[in-house]
Amino acid sequence: MAQPPTCPRCRRYVPNDVEPGVGPGVPSLAVSAQAEPIEVCLPCGWHEAWQQAQGELSAPQSWPVLVPERFYRGLGSC
Ligand SMILES: [Zn+2]
Repeated sequence: MAQPPTCPRCRRYVPNDVEPGVGPGVPSLAVSAQAEPIEVCLPCGWHEAWQQAQGELSAPQSWPVLVPERFYRGLGSC
């Protein structure tokens, strides 16, 4: 079986560490609508939404980023 996909933003598995390769990731919010979408893991999707709300979204040039552990602990934790 092929290697499960990894997240370009945090280097963990897509869609998450619990079920690597099971299901898709989410398109990164940090990539503009005109650009080719980049798929990130689900925790990064939540982290990006949180960052965007703070007005400090990490650009792909600054990846990989350190995502706080709470974003990996499940839905609604952020
Ligand atoms: Zn990630």
